[in-house]
Amino acid sequence: MYCPFCNADDTRVVDSRLVADGTQVRRRRECVDCSERFTTYESAELLMPRVIKSDGRREGFNEEKLRAGLQRALEKRPVPIEKIESALGQIKHVLQVAGEREVPSRTIGEAVMQQLRELDEVAYVRFASVYRSFQDISAFQDELNRLNSKKTTSADV
Ligand SMILES: [Zn+2]
Repeated sequence: MYCPFCNADDTRVVDSRLVADGTQVRRRRECVDCSERFTTYESAELLMPRVIKSDGRREGFNEEKLRAGLQRALEKRPVPIEKIESALGQIKHVLQVAGEREVPSRTIGEAVMQQLRELDEVAYVRFASVYRSFQDISAFQDELNRLNSKKTTSADV
């Protein structure tokens, strides 16, 4: 990279180490021209994408809103807070790994349903009934049928 002192276009790394629990690399660099030294910090850029709402408006990803939605669905359910936080982490991870700058809000909705389905079926149905009613009634009905048939099956065992 360029030297910030003389703008020479070549600097060499004289020392490199992991910092911040391994989430950053700190590098000491030395300018080949003026011999000044400086430090750079490098970390992976894991930005949350912006959200494309169904009417086409864009808004910033809002972790608090997502957490509130999960908590609402899980109200009075026997699910510990750590599990909710871990589900939230999973949803964020999915979005970060996708690496898109913008995602449709339904992608987030689907990710939430995926997590709730594993956490708690009552919460899942609560969320899905609100969410799916705006999307696709018949798909929601299919889900209910799936849950019912699953219950019947497990009762038989
Ligand atoms: Zn220089």
